[in-house]
Amino acid sequence: ARRSAAEPEFQQAVREVLETLEPVLAEHPEYIEAGILERLVEPERQLIFRVPWTDDTGRVRVNRGYRVQFNSALGPYKGGLRFHPSVNLSVVKFLGFEQIFKNALTSQRIGGGKGGSDFDPSDKSDAEVMRFCQSFMTELVHHIGEHTDIPAGDIGVGGREIGYLFGQYRRITQRYEAGVLTGKGIGWGGAEVRTEATGYGAVFFAEEMLLRAGQGIDGRRAIVSGSGNVATYAIEKIQQLGGTAVTASDSSGYIVDERGIDVELLKQVKEVERARISAYAERRPGAHFVASGSVWDVPGEIAFPCATQNELDGDHARTLIAGGLRAVAEGANMPATPEAVARFREAGVLFAPGKAANAGGVATSALEMSQNAARSRWDRDKSESRLRDIMRDVHASTYAASERYGRPGDYVLGANSAAFETVAHAMLAQGVI
Ligand code: NDP
Repeated sequence: ARRSAAEPEFQQAVREVLETLEPVLAEHPEYIEAGILERLVEPERQLIFRVPWTDDTGRVRVNRGYRVQFNSALGPYKGGLRFHPSVNLSVVKFLGFEQIFKNALTSQRIGGGKGGSDFDPSDKSDAEVMRFCQSFMTELVHHIGEHTDIPAGDIGVGGREIGYLFGQYRRITQRYEAGVLTGKGIGWGGAEVRTEATGYGAVFFAEEMLLRAGQGIDGRRAIVSGSGNVATYAIEKIQQLGGTAVTASDSSGYIVDERGIDVELLKQVKEVERARISAYAERRPGAHFVASGSVWDVPGEIAFPCATQNELDGDHARTLIAGGLRAVAEGANMPATPEAVARFREAGVLFAPGKAANAGGVATSALEMSQNAARSRWDRDKSESRLRDIMRDVHASTYAASERYGRPGDYVLGANSAAFETVAHAMLAQGVI
């Protein structure tokens, strides 16, 4: 705790995990004796580097780059890169720490890592984004590889950025090492359904959770936050399964569309035009844009927070519960504050934490790595059905762990304990390193 005193997001993520591990540690005193907890909270390696680049006016700009290689007991480090002005070491460490557990839950033999920069791609030209990515990779190239560390996308890093990063990696190394990055384009080493996987996976997890409780997605009204990669494909899958997603948001406000969000229009506005979310409401009769308040003021039966950390607090949770909420699946990482999670638990709302519910993205990235290694390519049906199976397994193992430790249906306890056991077991076997 002393070493990370000035890292509030990281402290929050660690506390949330440690608080649930008491029953596991009571059963496994050998983990305490082997110092597993002390080792787990200290990254194996942390890199911080200067990223200089030139903007379109010829001015030199400087950002800070990060890569935290957190834990490789299960496999090479794996986790996304985030480009957003709010990125700092605390944010990268919280995401990297979460990633260790998430990756363990996928059973894909991948370790945990995360990285990024305080660079903001949203107001930059394509050429500026390219020059930034090339500079970022010029340093990162020394630390990654298909057997060591495999970055992917996250907030502000989508197909465009992965393309520029991969191009520079290839240029410097003079090798076509497809497995070094995931989230690549379909025509040059990318996997089918990777783009959709996190959003689809969160909906599959919610469906499993609801089906266990004798309900389903069909006919239900869903509230979704965000309008990026995760939110867009969560909305698409909700509608495909017969639900109605009535909201989407970005940092400027939110939209409500009672007929159900038109996914093609949303993609046109956010992915193609890179415009603000209000442009959706301007073009869609019956939809409206709200600039103040929060998307969580809109009532619904299932909530999918898919924007960013700590976007849903205790007051939002109270409002949602009063509006008839039954289930929450976190598409984003740590979007619900500890107080919100406590409110959901008290009210008997089913709650799926991000490390389980949004594991479909990284799981499909691992499938992309397998296809790259085997020089093969799966079709869409096979890729989506593998994703569905993996999410079913993640649900089953988290539920089983929640039962084993005496609180059936507590998916926070289930995800943390199942993942921790897997990682701790491997660390114990590999000695004090
Ligand atoms: P995108 O950049 O595609 O979209 C992010 C969305 O969230 C945008 O709508 C953005 O609005 C909004 N947002 C971001 N930061 C803020 C903020 N501070 N306040 C309000 N709105 C904000 O990112 P992703 O969809 O990839 O990621 C969303 C979440 O999902 C993150 O928590 C990420 O870690 C998590 N995640 C992503 C995975 C993936 O495969 N992409 C895998 C697992 C988890 P605006 O455009 O205005 O900034």
